[in-house]
Amino acid sequence: MVGDKNVLHGKYELGRLLGHGTFAKVYHARNLASGKSVAMKVVGKEKVIKVGMMEQVKREISVMKMVKHPNIVELHEVMASKSKIYFAMELVRGGELFSKIARGRLKEDVARHYFQQLISAVDFCHSRGVYHRDLKPENLLLDDDGNLKVTDFGLSAFAEHLRQDGLLHTTCGTPAYVAPEVIGKKGYDGAKADIWSCGVILFVLLAGYLPFQDDNLVAMYRKIYKGDFKCPQWFSPESRRLITKLLDPNPSTRITTSKIMDSSWFKKSIPKVIRLK
Ligand code: ADP
Ligand code: MG
Repeated sequence: MVGDKNVLHGKYELGRLLGHGTFAKVYHARNLASGKSVAMKVVGKEKVIKVGMMEQVKREISVMKMVKHPNIVELHEVMASKSKIYFAMELVRGGELFSKIARGRLKEDVARHYFQQLISAVDFCHSRGVYHRDLKPENLLLDDDGNLKVTDFGLSAFAEHLRQDGLLHTTCGTPAYVAPEVIGKKGYDGAKADIWSCGVILFVLLAGYLPFQDDNLVAMYRKIYKGDFKCPQWFSPESRRLITKLLDPNPSTRITTSKIMDSSWFKKSIPKVIRLK
């Protein structure tokens, strides 16, 4: 920071805290020249270096520069000081999809509206050889018009970084959303692993609770491994069929993004009058 404590690089005025995750705090900020609001992600270098994640932060920056899509948070610029890295990003004002589910499950039309946008973003990433690896409702933001924006590429991977076996080997993500083959440590296809997480997200949106839950982590992993979940009775037959194909414990038979987009549940258009708030 230069000069005024709350002015960053003489360019952005830092405001209130919007949210935080494992490594970062995200603040509201205003570009002093244009008057425009942005979200400023602040990552402490010391913490990142300590856990050997600096390469991953660099990857987050290159990935975000690559994936320009209406359903992905846009990175405007990156700045650094001695102790911190700053990401000036598109500000998404409606909060996390997580808070919406915390208030209760969603109607099928509303869930479809968000899921369509999620799959559109994920399909785009995969077509660019980018795997997100941490898809969950905390990393899906909503704007004022009910548009969904994927954020936090902090654990993402590039297809070009695959080992000779063509698979990824880093076990990462959030336990409840992680695919069985990621837990298995034998290597996995990043696209298939993302699709599994999308299946968990769709279940959560429609049910209001997680498909694989247990206080004991090992017991939860056992359920994930077996694909041991039960759709509640209010799920429609089409949504059940689709979720079962997404949460297929075998990655080689698990549904692909193009097949998801072809499914009858996904293709139903959303009604004109839909209450998103
Ligand atoms: P971490 O890598 O530490 O998990 P995230 O990038 O997920 O950090 O950001 C942490 C939280 O900050 C998010 O869960 C969200 O609540 C908020 N946030 C992140 N990006 C934005 C944004 N562009 N606009 C508004 N809020 C954001
Ligand atoms: Mg996050």
